[in-house]
Amino acid sequence: MKIYIAYTGGTIGMVPSDNGLVPDAAFAKQLADQLGQYKELEHECVIESYETLIDSSNAAPKDWAMIGRDIENKWQDFDAFIVLHGTDTMAYTAAALNYMIAPSKKPIIVTGAQVPLYKARSDAMNNVLGAVSACEHLVAKKRQGVFLFFADRLIEGDRAHKSHTSDWRAFRSVNSPAYGELGIDWEWRDSHFSQLLIKPPMKFRIPDMEEGTVTMLPVFPGVQAEHWQGLLNEKVKGAVLLSYGAGNAPDKNAALLGVLKAASERGVVIVNVSQCGAGSVVAGAYAAGSALTNAGVVSGKDSTYEAAFARLHVLIGLGMDSREIKDIFNR
Ligand code: ASP
Repeated sequence: MKIYIAYTGGTIGMVPSDNGLVPDAAFAKQLADQLGQYKELEHECVIESYETLIDSSNAAPKDWAMIGRDIENKWQDFDAFIVLHGTDTMAYTAAALNYMIAPSKKPIIVTGAQVPLYKARSDAMNNVLGAVSACEHLVAKKRQGVFLFFADRLIEGDRAHKSHTSDWRAFRSVNSPAYGELGIDWEWRDSHFSQLLIKPPMKFRIPDMEEGTVTMLPVFPGVQAEHWQGLLNEKVKGAVLLSYGAGNAPDKNAALLGVLKAASERGVVIVNVSQCGAGSVVAGAYAAGSALTNAGVVSGKDSTYEAAFARLHVLIGLGMDSREIKDIFNR
C-alpha cells in the first residue's frame, strides 16, 4: 500500500525554542527513519513537510483548502492519506476535509500527538502507527472516509471534539460511538460499516475559503445585542450560535433576537449548536428555543460546533446561497 503522510505542523513534530515548542522541518526525516525500523510495515510511506509549518492554533480555512488540494493532487498516486496536524484545531480540519472530499473513496486520517516525537514518552509513534493500521484495515475492508485517529480511537471526521488538554485520549467522538477502537486488535462498529455501504459518487469540492465569513455567537448569562452585533459584521455570511441545553437562548431580550433576525434576513445562515457537548438541539422544545427558530436560526441538530463551523465555511465558499445552505442543514 502507498501512503502519503503530510506534516502540516503541530506538537507531533515540534522542538523546543526560546519561546516554547515550534514545528521543525527535520521531523519528516526523523519520522521516516523511525517508520523504516519496523520491517513488518510493508508500505511505501512518502512523508512530506509543508513549506510553512504551523501551530494549528494559527490554522485558518485557507489551510484546510491547502491540505484538501494537496490530497487531490496526489489522489491517483496513493491508496491512503495521513495528515499530521496540531491537536488544537484538528477537529475543525478533519470536519472540513470530511465536507470537501465527500464521500472519500480512500482513507484520509488526521492525527498528531500530545507530546513531540523527540521526547521519550511521546505518543507520536503510537498515533502514526495507529493511523497506518487504520489505513490498512479500512482499505482491506473497503471502508473509506475521513477520520481522526488519536490514542486508540478512530473517530469520523465530523464527530471529533478535543475534550482534554493533557490526557493521551485528547479527543472524543460526539453523539456517536467511535468508528473503531484499537487495542491489541481493532474493534469496529459494524453498524456504521453497513450505513456507509451506500454512497453517492465522490467529489472534491474545495473552495477558496474567505476568512472571517463564519463566526461564533456565544450565549452566556447577561448576553447583550451589542456583544453579537460586532461579531455579525458585514463580511459574515454564516454563524454558529452556541446555545444552552437543547438549543435555548434568552427569549425575553427583544434586541438580542432582533440582531439575529436582522442578520438572518440579510442572508446570514445561523446554525444552532448546543454548548452541552453531547445530545441534540431540539427546535421548539422550549419557548426560549422557539424564539430562535422565529428569528430564522436553523438547528444544527447533534452536530459539533467544529463540524457546523467547517460545514458553513465550505458551503459558503462553494457559493451557495442562504436558502440552499439552510436546506442542507435542515435535511
Ligand atoms: N498548539 C499545538 C497545535 O495545535 C498543540 C498540539 O499540536 O497538540 O499545533
